[in-house]
Amino acid sequence: MTDITAENSGAARNPVAPGAGRTVASAVPQSLVARLARGITAAEGAATEWTVAPLTGEPLAELPQSTVADVDTAYRLARGAQQVWAARPVRARAAVLLRFHDLLLKRQDEVLDLIQAETGKARLHAFEEVLATAMAARHYGRAAAGYLKDRRRGGAVPVLTHTVEGRRPKGVVGQISPWNYPLELSVSDALPAFVAGNAVVNKPDTQTALTALWARELLVEAGLPAELWQIVVGDGPVIGPAVVERADYVSFTGSTRTGREVAQRAAARLVGASLELGGKNAMLVLADADLDKAAEGAVRACFSSAGQLCISIERLFVHGSVADAFLERFAARTRALRLGGGLAYGADMGSLVSQRQLDTVTRHVEEAVKAGAAVLAGGQARPDIGPLFFEPTILDGVTDQMAVCAEETFGPVVSIYRFDTEDEAVATANATPYGLNSSVWTRDLRRGRAVAARLRTGTVNVNEAYAAAYGSVASPMGGMGDSGLGRRHGAEGILRYTEAQTIASQRVMPLAPAFGLDDEKFAALFTRSLRALKALGFK
Ligand code: NAD
Repeated sequence: MTDITAENSGAARNPVAPGAGRTVASAVPQSLVARLARGITAAEGAATEWTVAPLTGEPLAELPQSTVADVDTAYRLARGAQQVWAARPVRARAAVLLRFHDLLLKRQDEVLDLIQAETGKARLHAFEEVLATAMAARHYGRAAAGYLKDRRRGGAVPVLTHTVEGRRPKGVVGQISPWNYPLELSVSDALPAFVAGNAVVNKPDTQTALTALWARELLVEAGLPAELWQIVVGDGPVIGPAVVERADYVSFTGSTRTGREVAQRAAARLVGASLELGGKNAMLVLADADLDKAAEGAVRACFSSAGQLCISIERLFVHGSVADAFLERFAARTRALRLGGGLAYGADMGSLVSQRQLDTVTRHVEEAVKAGAAVLAGGQARPDIGPLFFEPTILDGVTDQMAVCAEETFGPVVSIYRFDTEDEAVATANATPYGLNSSVWTRDLRRGRAVAARLRTGTVNVNEAYAAAYGSVASPMGGMGDSGLGRRHGAEGILRYTEAQTIASQRVMPLAPAFGLDDEKFAALFTRSLRALKALGFK
């Protein structure tokens, strides 16, 4: 095998992208922070908390913290607004999403600055959020009326029973979102809730609340009634449960550990919940893969948003016959990635979001190396660029005993495993309690799709990292196993926010003995009718 490790030693550090000139402080002035913070539902004189810009470590925003009483207020306001909103025609509600789509694309630079300031990610990765959010807005803006329309169903007795299935809004959706995709995960899940006639009480992560608040302002500009989307901010273990305990439906995105807690609370109240949780996603490079494309794809798969992406790849399985050739390409590309924190396009990877993330990444890498894993690229923190930068890292020789093998790192670290047969690759990829996303690379698309169908993940991308499936917003996206419950996108992504209601009206004769029929004759008549209905092909 090529000695990739030697090449990576010493000076082979990732290059630094040129700076942009603009600073976080100038891009996110305190006047903007103060304006956005007024969108938080919190009483006058509330306690505040400072967030920090990950790129530089400087203070970013002082945000009022909502109390449980503020969560009560948020629900009260949301419930009032929801009654009026639900009475508007679906097409009028959908038009707001389409206007939001256009405004978002026009004003994207404002939110790109905010996302970068709050998360530290590279601008290209921040743009992915704009892309995904606009796609969801377009899809539900155009398709919601079809998803929500009344549907004629076969009645209990043909002709005599007229049956219609309708969809009613749940009411107020409690939505809890994480910090890693603050625009996409606050907005894209809220849009179908709104268009289905609901209000939303959203608790974003405090670290990324500005982005959610900005998006709320833009939606209001697009025509959303201001009180329909309430934003509360505060300590997760206190304000999170308060949101869940008042919701008519819960939409949660975050870790599997918190997701379990949320699910238990929702279950105790008999309200539904969709849970978009963690992953330990696998990529399979089959023997016939185009290795240049696979290496390019692996870089995106593993290092987008510095690996702080629920659907990013942390386990990479490569066929033994092409492993050396693939790793040479993948490692070279990874080492060439330019790290940087400029508020402009140009950097290939940005910073981690917090010290907690940096600690986990460092621990996973250091433990693995100490136990014998080889570093094929990266492996080091980069305080010379910013306090929370860590190099994109490829580990080889990872074993079951190492935490990085099975635990979600949620950082720019991928482990390499070799396989001989497809069966072996599929079995090992599936040997995890998670089941969020996976990626298969082959020149034979039919074979790729056949392998994909055997992988136990909610999405599978063939010859793409994650964006093909995630961007297919008309199709469901979500996790199997410990990766979640329910789906966003497509019909499931909007129908989850509705209650099905069946309205059946009976005419001419009741479904009971009538017109002088005694019970026995009624039973005989219906027995004959049932046989006839089956013979005639009724469903
Ligand atoms: P987290 O579970 O710690 O926090 C998520 C949200 O829950 C935050 O807003 C937090 O304040 C809140 N929260 C914390 N404790 C709570 C409680 N007891 N009750 C209710 N809410 C509570 O997750 P995180 O570290 O912020 O996010 C990273 C995780 O999210 C990773 O595991 C990642 O894979 C996952 N994620 C999944 C998806 C997906 O679509 N499947 C998308 C993004 C992130």
